[in-house]
Amino acid sequence: QLSLRLERVASHLYHFKRIADIGSDHGYLPCYLALRCPGLTAIAGELNEGPYQSACAQVSRSGLSDAVEVRKGNGLEVLRSDDKVEAIAIAGMGGPLIASILEEGKTKLRGVQTLVLQPNIAAHAVREWLSHHEFSISAEEIIEEDGKIYEIIVAVPEKGTPSLTEADLLLGPILRREKGSAFQKKWRREQQSWLQVLEELKKGKQTKEMSDKQRKLERKLQLVKEA
Ligand code: SAM
Repeated sequence: QLSLRLERVASHLYHFKRIADIGSDHGYLPCYLALRCPGLTAIAGELNEGPYQSACAQVSRSGLSDAVEVRKGNGLEVLRSDDKVEAIAIAGMGGPLIASILEEGKTKLRGVQTLVLQPNIAAHAVREWLSHHEFSISAEEIIEEDGKIYEIIVAVPEKGTPSLTEADLLLGPILRREKGSAFQKKWRREQQSWLQVLEELKKGKQTKEMSDKQRKLERKLQLVKEA
């Protein structure tokens, strides 16, 4: 049984035949897909020894050694051009780490049709990277599971894709139009915590750093309020 979060990530990958899951940890996602989608094969990439071993054990326990190959390495460096990967998932990490994995491995993205990205925090860093590298966002989801709210961003390469606005980057170009209940809950929570930080900042010494921080928070509050 997959978590709702990973199930939603998986749902964007059903129709591919060859996928990679980078930062696979336990390997649940590629194993679930290989069991569910006959003919699908996957590469599970993992940087760290413990999770790498755990993914290897999961693949062998599930009897999927022919369908899922676990490779140890940093980000997209585990992929070779002859892998002919159609889609890549990177889930369960911070937005800046996902963006840095894409940046460091951008030459490996040639020929890839879809990216399914699930940043746990700071999703704007992922949207910023996509917007600067000719990827357009084709789908977005926001879900709540066990009190936590997760965003999923699906992107496809598209030449000349228009850049995203400040509000699109922060809130998501699709999510901010849909305004679902998890979206509203997330941004109400953020608003509350930013207002508290602002209060503290206003009480403190007004250095340039503090007033820059204050200005950025006020701008974000304004964008959320407008949405
Ligand atoms: N993707 C799974 C999920 O969504 O449930 C696991 C998420 S887990 C929190 C993040 C995993 O990414 C860890 O196993 C960590 O070792 C791995 N990781 C972190 N940085 C990485 C990198 N640069 N390349 C590959 N794996 C990485």
